[in-house]
Amino acid sequence: MTRTCVLVPGDGIGPEVCDAVVRILEAAGADLAWERHQAGIAALEAGAPEVLPAETREAITHHGVALKGPCTTPIGGGFSSVNVALRKSLDLYAAVRPVRNLPGVASRFSDVDLVIVRENTEGLYSGIENVITEGVVTSLKVATESACRRIARFAEQYARSRGRHRVTAFHKANIMKLSDGLFLECAREVFAGSEIAYDERIIDAGCMKLVQDPTEFDVLLCENLYGDVVSDLCAGLVGGLGVTPGANFGDAAAVFEAVHGSAPDIAGRDVANPLALLMSAVMMLNHLADTEDAPAWREIGARIREAYDAALQAGEKTRDVGGSLGTRAFADAVIARLR
Ligand code: NAD
Repeated sequence: MTRTCVLVPGDGIGPEVCDAVVRILEAAGADLAWERHQAGIAALEAGAPEVLPAETREAITHHGVALKGPCTTPIGGGFSSVNVALRKSLDLYAAVRPVRNLPGVASRFSDVDLVIVRENTEGLYSGIENVITEGVVTSLKVATESACRRIARFAEQYARSRGRHRVTAFHKANIMKLSDGLFLECAREVFAGSEIAYDERIIDAGCMKLVQDPTEFDVLLCENLYGDVVSDLCAGLVGGLGVTPGANFGDAAAVFEAVHGSAPDIAGRDVANPLALLMSAVMMLNHLADTEDAPAWREIGARIREAYDAALQAGEKTRDVGGSLGTRAFADAVIARLR
């Protein structure tokens, strides 16, 4: 039966990589109907009064699942981040970002296979900034017991359901004793009775360890800002932002999007790598299989994964990972290898 999902193409390279991914899903036989909605600058250009139109939010709530391209957020003044607004308004509290080596993609390390679980709703992303007096501003880092406990529980359940063995919390509780202290306190409580091993790293030392030997890690549990920074660091370990997918989960909806942004430097040139969004789409199929008791979605996802692995192995890749194909040509190469 056809499953309707929301598609938010977004800004910059968003529409190009979305087109490529939708074509691959269709060719793989995924019976999906896309309900397209805008967000970001694209929404303003289409005449919407705000970057996150109510109809986009409502459609995602209604259908429960969305595939989303990146949205531009100008630095400094101007409108606030559509991504942060989306995650907060739909209470998509857990970001999951798997990072693994891919065949045919050169990187400094082999055997990297880790997952970042990022708290998505608070911390320094609370957007509470004040001008105290001229030349003095503050930014408030918010930690609540409920959000800290909720993300620790999510990481514990995620680790158990995926056969992962260890969760490592990254923190700076030696300096932020109350906020990061609460984050750790909740995590310790949650993991106290768990079969999943749990440990902690101060984030600066943890980052050093990550670039020395990322194979030491399994699941990383991070508050919002640490998760953001560590995600890009880890992307760099396996070939870059073009190969790092992501998902944002809440209790009522899930939005699947790559870690990368709208890449204005390469937008509209048919050079962007659609693989990170394609891998996010495979996560979406697995999510549908899990939540709707429909194993066929998982089988389609597995065939797509085999096809892109085979294409990469054969050197059919985009420029960011050492190949010469454009966005469309890479999508064609994956489609040609679908079984
Ligand atoms: P970016 O991820 O857009 O780009 C960083 C670098 O990686 C650029 O050189 C870019 O060309 C390259 N790159 C990114 N994705 C690529 C891909 N698929 N294929 C090949 N190369 C790729 O980060 P940025 O430049 O810091 O941010 C640009 C805009 O995106 C900003 O407005 C930022 O706020 C926004 N952003 C949005 C999201 C999101 O929507 N989830 C995430 C991160 C950044």
